[in-house]
Amino acid sequence: MTCDINVELLKEKIRNIPNFPYNGINFKDITPLLSSRNYLYILTEMLLEKYRNKGITKVIGIESRGFFMASILAYGLNAGFVPIRKSGKLPFECFERKYKKEYGEDVIQIHSDSLTADDIVLIHDDLLATGGTILAAYELVKSMGVKHIYVNFLVELTHLSGRCKLPENLDVSSIFKLDS
Ligand code: AMP
Repeated sequence: MTCDINVELLKEKIRNIPNFPYNGINFKDITPLLSSRNYLYILTEMLLEKYRNKGITKVIGIESRGFFMASILAYGLNAGFVPIRKSGKLPFECFERKYKKEYGEDVIQIHSDSLTADDIVLIHDDLLATGGTILAAYELVKSMGVKHIYVNFLVELTHLSGRCKLPENLDVSSIFKLDS
């Protein structure tokens, strides 16, 4: 089975939930993809193949659906796992970044001792929509002076052009590109 066929097969396991959690949002539910042991295995292997030879030392997962695959990838890449969480959830001293959401502002945080200048980092989230969350996460991690940053999503909603918010030379990848 080639990788392209895998992607199309796996894509069918992403469930649309119209008007969740708000009216007008077509929520992409990845839980059917993750609950299948065959599909989870294929998905994990695809991601590991992509990032295996990059020398990644830390995988950062963005709360909360980013935690699922980020933890698995950290294990598979023999890297550490670091969470980025919403304000007030992490117990130790944090660095933080504010960002604009559709309605109002949000704050994300990371432990101040979680990354070093030697780290090669993969930031992972389940989905790229408008790009506000990943831009804040990228800027937060960059401000900590790591050696290199990669960014990965399972799903990219291409019609929302979130990628355009990120620097052009940043290595950004997504497995599933959806346009609705
Ligand atoms: P954004 O900052 O607009 O790129 O939104 C990305 C974040 O919001 C990710 O952490 C996603 O988990 C979540 N998100 C936004 N839109 C959706 C959607 N349609 N389906 C599932 N999650 C979404």
